Amino acid sequence: MVKKLVNDPHDVVQETVEGCALLQPGVSLLRDTTTLIRTDHHAHGPADDRVPVAIITGGGAGHEPADAGYVAPGMLSAAVTGGVFSSPTPDAVYEGIRAVSGSAGALLVVKNYTGDRLNFQLGAELARSDGYLVETVLVADDVSLSDSDDNAGRRGIAATVLVCKIAGALAAQGRPLEEIRARAQAAADAAGTLNLGLAPCTIPGLDVPSFRLDGDKIELGLGIHGERGVRQIRMQPVDKLIHTMTARIASDRGIRAGARVVVLVGDAGATPPGEIAIAARAVVRDLELRRIEVVRLYAGEVMTSLDMAGISVTLLPVDDAMVEALDAPTSARAWPGHGTSHAPVLHVLPVPVRNLESVAATAHDPRVRAAIDAACQSLLDAETELTSLDREVGDGDLGQALARGAYGWMDDPAEGDAATQLRHLSEVFRREVGGSSGALYAMGLLKASEAVGQGWEAALRAGVDGVRALGSAEPGDGTMVDALAPAADALGDGLGAAVEAARAGADATADRVARRGRASYLGERSQGHRDPGAVAVVTWLEAINQAMTS
Ligand code: ADP
Ligand code: MG
Repeated sequence: MVKKLVNDPHDVVQETVEGCALLQPGVSLLRDTTTLIRTDHHAHGPADDRVPVAIITGGGAGHEPADAGYVAPGMLSAAVTGGVFSSPTPDAVYEGIRAVSGSAGALLVVKNYTGDRLNFQLGAELARSDGYLVETVLVADDVSLSDSDDNAGRRGIAATVLVCKIAGALAAQGRPLEEIRARAQAAADAAGTLNLGLAPCTIPGLDVPSFRLDGDKIELGLGIHGERGVRQIRMQPVDKLIHTMTARIASDRGIRAGARVVVLVGDAGATPPGEIAIAARAVVRDLELRRIEVVRLYAGEVMTSLDMAGISVTLLPVDDAMVEALDAPTSARAWPGHGTSHAPVLHVLPVPVRNLESVAATAHDPRVRAAIDAACQSLLDAETELTSLDREVGDGDLGQALARGAYGWMDDPAEGDAATQLRHLSEVFRREVGGSSGALYAMGLLKASEAVGQGWEAALRAGVDGVRALGSAEPGDGTMVDALAPAADALGDGLGAAVEAARAGADATADRVARRGRASYLGERSQGHRDPGAVAVVTWLEAINQAMTS
């Protein structure tokens, strides 16, 4: 069963559009329709001279945030939404035009699908016969299809969003209809887009995905209606996929070295934002190698296909006027260019150097070194055991994590007195260990190094207090503190007593419900397992004891 956050599948479009209206201030639902309009551009008829040129687009639902998410000052006056993946009716288009157009006229931005073209053209014709000035811009940016007569024409896909942004900015500046049409059409004609599909989508109410992808196959050159692409290719590293895509778009659109382009990387609907960021990085790097200048980089959900996984890459060669229109303000919540008015450059800055008062060299204490060496060796010996204990109650990384710390010390031990060595050990653990233990050990060792001047009891006590303060764990919470705290209490009676106290504390964690750390997420299920962090404490304390007494 494909699980979706919907109610009755028949209500999906209505509820989607209403939700979009709630999310975007200044937007109204046109009564008895699924059309959203700018409230302040609600017009009174073809003679209304209070509204500027209306920018209207639309198409099937399922492409959210397109188009409803772009109805806002600086972008769309209205978005006319049809059924899922199906064009709105001519009447819906006709009503949408009437709702927001006045004497300045209306520009329809139409994606080049047969259904959209027919219905928008007829809607425009109906409005014209009522006295409205209506022009259309056709977007056909999909470079996966040949530009010849042997298909229904190239599809309009993600570049539609850029065209709407440019048209919306010009309308907001009060430019006349014919100028907006010409400049929007020029942008539409220049843009090229290629879609890549990693996983199909499922229409609400249908339980079957739109297609099947076996093994390592992915689809290249898809439209936005869940259809297959023009060809299947094998999954490859994203840099390679992007290279293939940008090569195709650039050659198709005649984009050569020296060109200036705007890049839009779109999520097909279910691609993690992190992967979109990786893809965006790949496009920038690839175009850099082609010596094509990226003047703006936009990425995110712009024109989706329900829950399809995949991306679109759009390249739009631009002049300064287009960039200015793209940079112009809009409050459209879905516009991916918010705050993006600069060319993408990866700045890398150094961390300011540490403010180290010159640490005076101290006399080396070989016994401390021997103790730390023994402790580290014992952690390496116990790696497998600690890992399997952590797997029971945590994520199974503790053995490896502490081993990284131990190796770190062995590769780079410190010379000096106890404070110097402990401080260095703290730094090594801080860098190498990671996770909760990394921070807790680093804190404990730092505090111990600061206190060791007053003796080892003070050092262990300060270290334990540091761990407790950072982790907010009390003895009895089922953590390493259950071993550390009794050891600190017993150290006055000798190292052997401290080891035994730690062992008793660690054993007792098996009877406890963990209240801190990852194990606490298990609630009572953490019972019956010794806490791995506490066992680790016993391990290294015992090793130190043996090293000191042998
Ligand atoms: P994680 O994988 O959750 O980042 P580690 O595997 O590095 O954690 O360390 C797990 C051990 O850390 C636990 O067995 C426990 O002894 C200790 N620990 C976790 N949280 C705390 C805390 N808040 N205070 C003290 N010790 C803690
Ligand atoms: Mg862990």
